Amino acid sequence: MSVEQIETLIIGGGQAGIAMSAQLSERGLPHLVLERHRIAERWRSERWDSLVANGPAWHDRFPILDFPDLDPASFAPKDRMVAYFEQVAAMTKTPIRCGVEVTSVAAIEAGYRVQTNQGVIEARNVVSATGPFQRPLIPQDVPAAAGMMQLHSSGYRNPAQLPQGAVLVVGAGASGSQIADELLRAGRKVYLSVGPHDRPPIRYRGKDFCWWLGVLGHWDAKARRKGMEHVTIAVSGAHGGNTVDFRAFAARGMTLLGRTGAYDNGVLQIAADLAENIAGGDRHYLTTLDEADAYVTAHGLDFPPEPEARIFAENPDCVTHPLRSLDLAQAGITSIVWATGYALDYSWLQVDALDEKGRPDHLRGVTKHRGLYFLGLPWLASRASPFIWGVWCDAAYLADQIAAT
Ligand SMILES: Cc1cc2nc3c(=O)[nH]c(=O)nc-3n(C[C@H](O)[C@H](O)[C@H](O)COP(=O)(O)OP(=O)(O)OC[C@H]3O[C@@H](n4cnc5c(N)ncnc54)[C@H](O)[C@@H]3O)c2cc1C
Repeated sequence: MSVEQIETLIIGGGQAGIAMSAQLSERGLPHLVLERHRIAERWRSERWDSLVANGPAWHDRFPILDFPDLDPASFAPKDRMVAYFEQVAAMTKTPIRCGVEVTSVAAIEAGYRVQTNQGVIEARNVVSATGPFQRPLIPQDVPAAAGMMQLHSSGYRNPAQLPQGAVLVVGAGASGSQIADELLRAGRKVYLSVGPHDRPPIRYRGKDFCWWLGVLGHWDAKARRKGMEHVTIAVSGAHGGNTVDFRAFAARGMTLLGRTGAYDNGVLQIAADLAENIAGGDRHYLTTLDEADAYVTAHGLDFPPEPEARIFAENPDCVTHPLRSLDLAQAGITSIVWATGYALDYSWLQVDALDEKGRPDHLRGVTKHRGLYFLGLPWLASRASPFIWGVWCDAAYLADQIAAT
């Protein structure tokens, strides 16, 4: 039986796979996208019900299609994001097969042999667009014997899913801070473990943070700040978009904690780093305001001043007198939501294209293996790379590379 041949095979039908397909189509290059579930599956089934995009509709989109039904300053609900990517796929006639999982990719003389759950395909080029969120990561071990419900943020849907009682949310990036806020609004007692983070102002002097990150050149930043390789960004488009303010959470009754440590006999150790983590987020926030002010001055812009943006409430008691351990039963905690991020998983890749830490080894997505590319990863080419706008630009670059070969 002859093996199906295709010039370029794209693995993954999320925003990266759809963008890659659109860019190849624009250059008239034949290709096929394989998606194991459905287009934009992560948005559909791997996040909570109330999720909205973290960036406003004018920004969080591809340049070929906007959201005519949405206020450009609003934040698209997740169902609208799914419809958006489906719309782009229809518009650009993405050749996609859903329900097809790639189980291995191995090098052959003419390119790559791709094994799927529905047979073999040979491709000259392979673009891995399987995303940065492949395997939910839970850093600590709280044994089942602790007797509480534990789930990763990818499994959290809504407050009603959790048993009555207090909730510990571990991790205060976009997912953790939004989930903790939602639980607090639902009347739960919430403990939130806050690690180091960046905390951009959602709006300042009449412009939103996406606009500011653009004019200040942050989206184009090529390298992470030293020592902040894994920094998490606390940002939220929920409820019309609000700057994540941990002091305001505490004022509403949330107990903030430092990073969670080891578990022993019903008690979690808590690091002494809460005040420093809050201060680090403040520094990032204030630096952004300073840079924005300097930009306004340098360009002679008539933007309304906003001195009140620099006024912080006093640190709450949970920051000035932080808990160093948490007795889960005593605190009435009946569930833990681990909003602790994801790991990569390239177990299907039988090509030596990963570094010693198991991360793709590439330059702007181009590997040392002819015809093998990565797309959609954080810092692939710049800070914007994993975001909707950025992945479009990176896909254009890879399509040019493929066209050139
Ligand atoms: C909940 C959520 C909120 C987000 N908010 C924003 C935002 O506000 N602004 C913004 O710009 N970006 C946002 N993003 C984008 C985000 O930052 C990620 O970078 C983005 O999801 C990555 O897209 P991707 O296509 O690279 O990967 P994914 O969305 O993870 O898609 C990868 C796809 O590959 C498929 N796949 C994996 N392995 C295989 C295999 N072996 N065979 C076949 N198929 C496979 C998966 O099923 C999945 O559909 C958000 C994403 C999510 C999920």
